[in-house]
Amino acid sequence: MNLQLDDLHVKFQHFSIDLFQNDLINWFQQEKRSLPWRENRDPYRIWVSEIMLQQTKVDTVIPYFHRFMERFPTIQALAKADEQDVLKAWEGLGYYSRARNLQTAVREVAQAYGGKVPDNVDELGKLKGVGPYTKGAILSIAYGIPQPAVDGNVMRVLSRILLITEDIAKPKARKIFEAAVEELISREDPSSFNQGLMELGALICTPKKPACMLCPVQEHCAAFQQGLQEELPIKSKGKKQKTMPYLSVIVENAQGEVLIEKRPEEGLLANLWQFPMADAAEVSVEQLAYWFKLEYGIQIELGETLQPVRHVFSHIIWEIIVLHAKTADATTEQGRFVSLSDINDYPLPVPHQKLLQQIHVPE
Ligand code: SF4
Repeated sequence: MNLQLDDLHVKFQHFSIDLFQNDLINWFQQEKRSLPWRENRDPYRIWVSEIMLQQTKVDTVIPYFHRFMERFPTIQALAKADEQDVLKAWEGLGYYSRARNLQTAVREVAQAYGGKVPDNVDELGKLKGVGPYTKGAILSIAYGIPQPAVDGNVMRVLSRILLITEDIAKPKARKIFEAAVEELISREDPSSFNQGLMELGALICTPKKPACMLCPVQEHCAAFQQGLQEELPIKSKGKKQKTMPYLSVIVENAQGEVLIEKRPEEGLLANLWQFPMADAAEVSVEQLAYWFKLEYGIQIELGETLQPVRHVFSHIIWEIIVLHAKTADATTEQGRFVSLSDINDYPLPVPHQKLLQQIHVPE
């Protein structure tokens, strides 16, 4: 890493930092998209938007952000809210630990900091779910403090501009890019500088086929000058996702209610609700009714097979065979029968919403 940091200093000897800042910031001021979290500098709104934008596209986030802000407009409102309501507002966005961590951190801000989002590196960085990127984004955008906010987009853009060949899939790469931003960032307007880099990555310096001919910082870009823009960044492939087969049953009782259960408090999709699922590596369709009796204490009669559901998470893929079943039993300790009109009160992860859509189209 030291070698790369030394390399950086050599690169900056021939780099006009002032002109680069001006070109980037002027372009950002003129071309920035109008986004709801850019309406003001409220650190809470910026924080929520940055958490939502992790792993999720801007277009997807916008309606969620509006609904979330209507529901939980302040730190106090989110701190006081029931976790199930927060998960419900997050339903469909995925990576639900983001929502739980956000609420935990917001509660800490409400209690320890009188409801004011901290404006310093140490306090902000200790809050749950606030990593180096989010911390830098809040400090620079909300408080105008020159701190780097480096995510995959920013690493891609800077690897091209500065011809940095570090593998951006490796955790240690971030330090190199943070060091680069610390050199480059505008002290007068760190907010526009960081947002400008992010916006450039989103609109112009895209992963495939960057629009170099439209790029406001083309004359500063070493990769463009050498025709290497499509070779960078260097990014090694992660592990292949593991496929996990499941059997899931939509069990209906005589009142037309369906059985759902709450997932465990820890792990993937913690505390969300789902239709019962069996590991298909251990339970076959033929064994399903017997397994159900053991697990849920109710007798089911399997019916038709519905459409299978496939859902890709970051590290695993669920492949779910979906069956319909009837039961004469009305209760179970291992879950809850709910009517189709009430089921929308429960936060269901996307794969289970896909199951639900097969029996119930929401109004
Ligand atoms: Fe990215 Fe091309 Fe601009 Fe360089 S010139 S920063 S590669 S869009």
